[in-house]
Amino acid sequence: MTALTSRDEPATRSYTTLWGTTDKRRYAELLTLEMGKVIGEAEAEVDLSADILQYYAEHGESLLETITVPVAFAAEGEVEIVSQPLGVLLSVEPWNFPYYQVVRVAGPQLLAGNTILLKHASNVPQAAAMFDDLFERAGLPAGAFKNLYLPHNLTEYVINDPRVRGVALTGSEEAGAIIAAYAAKAVKKSTLELGGSDAFVVLADADIDKTVQWAVFGRHWNAGQVCVSAKRLIVVDEVFDEFLEKYRAGVTALKMGDPMDPATTLAPLSSQGAADKLAVQVEKAIAGGATAETLGEKVPANGAFYQPTILTGMTSANPSYFEEFFGPVSIIIRVKDEAEAITVANDSPFGLGGSVFTRDTVNGEKVARKIETGMVYVNHPTMVKADIPFGGVKHSGYGHELTNLGIQEFINKKVIDIVDINAAF
Ligand code: NAP
Repeated sequence: MTALTSRDEPATRSYTTLWGTTDKRRYAELLTLEMGKVIGEAEAEVDLSADILQYYAEHGESLLETITVPVAFAAEGEVEIVSQPLGVLLSVEPWNFPYYQVVRVAGPQLLAGNTILLKHASNVPQAAAMFDDLFERAGLPAGAFKNLYLPHNLTEYVINDPRVRGVALTGSEEAGAIIAAYAAKAVKKSTLELGGSDAFVVLADADIDKTVQWAVFGRHWNAGQVCVSAKRLIVVDEVFDEFLEKYRAGVTALKMGDPMDPATTLAPLSSQGAADKLAVQVEKAIAGGATAETLGEKVPANGAFYQPTILTGMTSANPSYFEEFFGPVSIIIRVKDEAEAITVANDSPFGLGGSVFTRDTVNGEKVARKIETGMVYVNHPTMVKADIPFGGVKHSGYGHELTNLGIQEFINKKVIDIVDINAAF
C-alpha cells in the first residue's frame, strides 16, 4: 500500500507508482469489456478507486489513533480506546462499479489491519482477479486480500468460519437480506449498501437549464445502473412543463453505441438479462397505470441497449412506484409545491441518496434535512468522492463506507483502563 503514497499532480491524478497512463487505460478497458460502461466513465472509476486508496494511505493512520478518555466524572484510572482489527472480513460486491466497490471496503479495512476475502459478482471475474495482482504488487502481505470465486451456496459456510469476523455487502436488497441473516445467525457484524430510488427534487427557483443537464447525467451515467442514480425526478408544477420539455431534449441527444468510442454517452446495460428485466418492469408499470414514452435514436442492434424511457402518471397506487429501475428509465412526477415534493421523495421504501435543486441554498439545506435518506446533495445529483462518506437508511441498508465512518465499521474499539490498585470500587 505504501507505493500509493507518492502521487503526481492531483489535477491529473496519474498514479504513476503503480500504473502509468497506459496501465490506467488498460484497467479502464477491462471494465468496459466486462460490463459495458463507456470508456470515459471507466477511466473516472479507475481514478476514483485510486483516490480512495490514496485517501486512506494519507489519513488512515490518524483515523485509528488511540483516544484518551477524560475521567472527570465517576471513572478512575487512565482510560484509552485502542483501535484493533476484527480479523477476516468477507466482502460481497456488485458488478456496476467493479473496482470502486471493492476498494470502498478493501482500502480502509486492509489499512485497519483486517484481511479481505472477496466474493465479487460472477459477471466481472477479470476485474475480481485484477485485485489479487494489484495488491500483491502494492506490497500487501500474501493472503491479506484473496479473491474467491465463491458460489452462492458456499457463502454461509465462509461466514460461519470462526476466523471470519464480519461481512460487508453491496448489492440488491434480496442478497443483502440473505447475507445479513447468515451473519446474524453466526453473531457477526454486517454492513449493507443496497439499492435506492433517489429523488431528484426540482424547486420553482432552480436554474432549469443546468438542473436538466444534471438530471440527464444523474439518471443515465453508467447506463442508469447506479444505486444513487436520480431515479425519481420530482418537479414542482410551476416549472414542470419547461423541465420536461428540456429533459426530453437532453435524453434524446444521448448517443448510444460502442462504449469504447469516446463519442458514446449512453452505454449498453451489463447483460441482456438486465435489459430484459428492465423491459418487464416497464411493462408492469404501464399495466399499473403509468404512461411510457421512449426517446432518442433507435438502439443499436448489437449490445444489451435499452431504449431511454420516461414514465409519467406513476402514483403510489401502482406497485411499480416503489421499485428500483436499474437502467435508463426516468420516473417523472409533478407535484404542487415544495411540501408535496418532500412527501413524495419520502414515499419510498429506500433511503439511499437524493438531491434538491434550487437557487436558494439555505432553503435547499432545510429541504435536504427533511428527506429521509443517508445522503442528500443540493444542486448536484450525487457527489461520489473519496472524501465523502457513503451509506443509506431504510431498505437501502445500514452502515457506512468511506472516510472515518467507513474505516470504523470493522474495528474493535477496545477500552483499556489502567487503574490504581487502591482505587475505590
Ligand atoms: P446482487 O444480485 O445482489 O449481487 C451483488 C453481489 O451479491 C454479487 O456478488 C452477487 O453474486 C452476490 N449475491 C447475490 N445473491 C447472493 C446469494 N444468495 N448468496 C451469495 N451471494 C449473493 O446485485 P446486483 O444486481 O449485482 O447489483 C445491483 C444492486 O446493487 C442494485 O440494487 C443497486 O442499487 C445495488 N447497489 C448498491 C450500492 C450502494 O452502495 N448502496 C452500490 C452499487 C449497487 P453473483 O453475481 O454471483 O450473483
